[in-house]
Amino acid sequence: MDKKKDFLRTLAEQEFLNTDSIKWGEKCFVFPSHRASVFFSYYLQNLAKNNPVFSPKLLTIENFILSLSGFTKAERPYLLALLLKETCKDDSEIPSIDFLERILNDFNDIDNFLVDPLEIFQNHTHLQELENWDYLSEEQKKTILAYWGKNALPIKSKKGSSILEQTLENIKSLYHIYLNFNKTLEENFTGYTGSISRRVAEKIDDTKLLAIIEKLFFKQNITEIIFVGLHQITKAEEIILQRIKKLLNGKVAIRFIWEKIDFDFSNLSLDELDKNKIIGPAYSVNKKKLGGEFLELDKVSVSPSIEIIQTSSDTQRSKCIPTIINEILTKDPNAIEALNCAIIVPKEDSLPPLLETLRNNTFNKNLDINLTMGYPLSISSISIWVNRFLEYQMAIKSRGNEFLFSLQAFKFLFLHPLSSRLFSDEIQRDINRLIQNSYYYLSFSELKELPSFDTIVKEVFSPINSTKSNKPDGIALLERLLFLLELIEQDINKNLSTASQETEEKELYFLKTEYEFTTRYTSIIKQLFEVLTGLINKDGKSFPLDLALVIKFLQQLINSENFPFEGEPIKGLQVMGLLESRLMYFDHIIITDANNDIFPKSSNNNVAGYLPRSLRIGYGLPTNRDNNFTESYNFYRLIQRAKKIYFITGSSQDYEPSHFIAQLRYLFGLKHQTRLVSTDLISQKNTTIEIPKKDFSKTLDLFKTNFKDKKNLSATSLSDYIQCPLKFFYKHIQDIKDLDDDESILSPAKFGTILHNTMEEIYEKISSSSSLINEKNLLYFQDFHILDSIVSKNYAKVAFNQKRKKSINGVDEIFKNLIIKYTKKILEHDATETPFEYLASEEKIDFQFNEINITGSIDRVDKKNGIIRIIDYKTGSDKKTCDSIEDIFNPDKNGTKAFLQLLLYSYYYQEYKNKEQLLQPLIYSTKEISVNPPSQAITPLYFSQEKKELFENLEEQKKDLEIYKKHLGNLITQIFDLEQNFTQTKNKDNCTYCPFNPICGIN
Ligand code: SF4
Repeated sequence: MDKKKDFLRTLAEQEFLNTDSIKWGEKCFVFPSHRASVFFSYYLQNLAKNNPVFSPKLLTIENFILSLSGFTKAERPYLLALLLKETCKDDSEIPSIDFLERILNDFNDIDNFLVDPLEIFQNHTHLQELENWDYLSEEQKKTILAYWGKNALPIKSKKGSSILEQTLENIKSLYHIYLNFNKTLEENFTGYTGSISRRVAEKIDDTKLLAIIEKLFFKQNITEIIFVGLHQITKAEEIILQRIKKLLNGKVAIRFIWEKIDFDFSNLSLDELDKNKIIGPAYSVNKKKLGGEFLELDKVSVSPSIEIIQTSSDTQRSKCIPTIINEILTKDPNAIEALNCAIIVPKEDSLPPLLETLRNNTFNKNLDINLTMGYPLSISSISIWVNRFLEYQMAIKSRGNEFLFSLQAFKFLFLHPLSSRLFSDEIQRDINRLIQNSYYYLSFSELKELPSFDTIVKEVFSPINSTKSNKPDGIALLERLLFLLELIEQDINKNLSTASQETEEKELYFLKTEYEFTTRYTSIIKQLFEVLTGLINKDGKSFPLDLALVIKFLQQLINSENFPFEGEPIKGLQVMGLLESRLMYFDHIIITDANNDIFPKSSNNNVAGYLPRSLRIGYGLPTNRDNNFTESYNFYRLIQRAKKIYFITGSSQDYEPSHFIAQLRYLFGLKHQTRLVSTDLISQKNTTIEIPKKDFSKTLDLFKTNFKDKKNLSATSLSDYIQCPLKFFYKHIQDIKDLDDDESILSPAKFGTILHNTMEEIYEKISSSSSLINEKNLLYFQDFHILDSIVSKNYAKVAFNQKRKKSINGVDEIFKNLIIKYTKKILEHDATETPFEYLASEEKIDFQFNEINITGSIDRVDKKNGIIRIIDYKTGSDKKTCDSIEDIFNPDKNGTKAFLQLLLYSYYYQEYKNKEQLLQPLIYSTKEISVNPPSQAITPLYFSQEKKELFENLEEQKKDLEIYKKHLGNLITQIFDLEQNFTQTKNKDNCTYCPFNPICGIN
């Protein structure tokens, strides 16, 4: 990748050039993520190879605020356990992790956006109060009121109380939970992101804040703090940054450097407003608030090429990746080494099989993989071991004074590889012998009688509730687990420290991973233990911390816990989540799980909190819309400079492809190739498909009849047959819907229909008084508001099947504005052609050719200077030049569909309307007309081989249409020749964007 195109490289270069080598130690850079800071540091080191510089201070925005707070950030397990303590003080029902997580998210947002908790939780004592909130806007009041009566929080439910009462009570109880929860955290000098930010924004006064800054920055001689590439900024962060700017004014230079987003693919130049509809307003709003500059990079003019890999199972999804990487390396051997290749994994569950596949790849045995994302703890070896331990404990039965174990559960635990880390060889031998001589059950006495029986065997296999302590069983369980996990941890560590240089890299990696997972698991149990022991009351009574309760909580906690991997070394294949890719660019991007609901997360998913959307809007808290914007921002910023993007999707109907794919295709006009992975991408072979026409003779006969279920050929179906007879078969014989059709976004066909309908409506209105069109008539309809009203109505009808839609938002609004823009350009052009006579819009043609039905619809017919103009509005990129009429029917020549269509309509017009009328077929290319002057954009069709325009005079017209008729006749004979099967095209270029590519077996 060209260095000038890369944000972090350019920043490093720019700073390197402008900074005296001895001044580097005086700079502090604050990045949105740790990974971005690591890459920046790497680029800087490369630049400073021959001219060493002091290391600047590098921080993430989170650490920057944390350092100002003087607090530590509490870990998620600790926070959830603490919330558990607060939510079920005098209740016997244990809340689910999901419930606690939602509350935590609400608290986090309330603090991040500096909302008064008393106001949002406590002050809604009854409905009337909402109406008296003078400080809220009407809009805010409405949204808050919309909430009441609809939602109830499942904290408590009092029988007999109304939903509203329950809701009020539930919201009120959140306030007390919030206060107690935060009080405990504060007492321990810790907090969550929101509470820490709030502390710095509101609770630390200027004098104190300045003293902290002095200690952190002045004493280290920092003279400049540079905030780089920030994007979503919370209210608390904004206040903190503004305060810092003010407090440090004249003492330390504060700079903001922003990342510019340019995704004007396919020359579709979006203005700021349109961009904001896709990626949200934060992109421009925060820069305005905080000041600073965009880092200027070279403009990229090439749009990324896109390939969709459809797979039918999760396993295939990861298995096809080595093949893709191999393909990348064939074209760009340096891609991995130059850090130009990234795999984006939107779903953490996909990570383990992916890593497994990459480690066993055949293209590079020593492939370095740099992982920056969460790895699900639940699938780690230690997690499986603990689960077996818990299952074993739950299956223990007592009979009199004896404890019986299910042999199955016992074996499962004992035979787990991690158990061997606890037991000596002697114990293992003894237990194996015991297992061999047992049926169904084992007793604890039998175990005790083993000669090798020792404390560890006792700790692993004795029932938790056999101990005579007055501790609750749940706490005893955690103590026991802590003891055992620490033993396992020590043993792995011993292996690691004795690992020799000969130890295989794979084995070493495995040991290290196992060690890290075990350490993490142990730390979670410690945190849980610390908080839950606090539940035991002083007087000896305790919250019912029984085994089942603690096991349930622990398992839920682990199931939702991701172990954060953060690779430091800057080498190898980059594997990361979308969020971790901030500020980085890659030439080659592979996105696994590119399906809706995963990438991006479902737009229907509410923000994971209990505060309803209406309350969130009322108080300015983020909603799912903001989350969607953030994901779009991260996606578009990542791909804006990519050369190739591979989207790996599921191919079954259960998987809807990511709507980002549809946006790229329909909004930006980026075409894509599709591949279907059936078993293995490498071994995928071309499949030859031939469909005998004889088997479909009855369907083919329908093209000749005039019955109700008759079929017709059209310009599209003729063009499809020329391109590929098999495609014609799928589409027009089998009537298979376009496999790429995505209902969630406006299709190109619908886009065209809206434009056509709009033009028809305008011309019908103008011509209602006179068919002679003058400039003044056209001028009236160029007014934005008039056009907006016509386009909105047609948009609602075609896109949403509604008579009128109140508001058209988001991407739909962009489409609508594009249609308005194109319509206006067409009218502006038409004004330059006035006066002319309008004859018809969407004129239907319906005739028989060699006994075959042919239908179509001419977009517009008008007459100027005695010539009938047959106009086709094209929203795609159709060619206006073609070698010859023969070439229109040649499958090896692409892009001649517009010729085929306009000549068909001309043939019809001449044959069935007026044989002596000179015609002029014209393409109105909306894309061209919107960027070029009309004189260049709307020109007659041209045959380059014969160096002539189409139909220069009546004689030429008759000659040309005769040649066309001959070729059309031949084509129709071929289509209905039962001896010629429906076969795959020989021109593989035609397959590139064919929607049937995934099912026709062509590679
Ligand atoms: S992928 Fe190629 S061969 Fe298959 S139907 Fe489409 S155009 Fe024909």
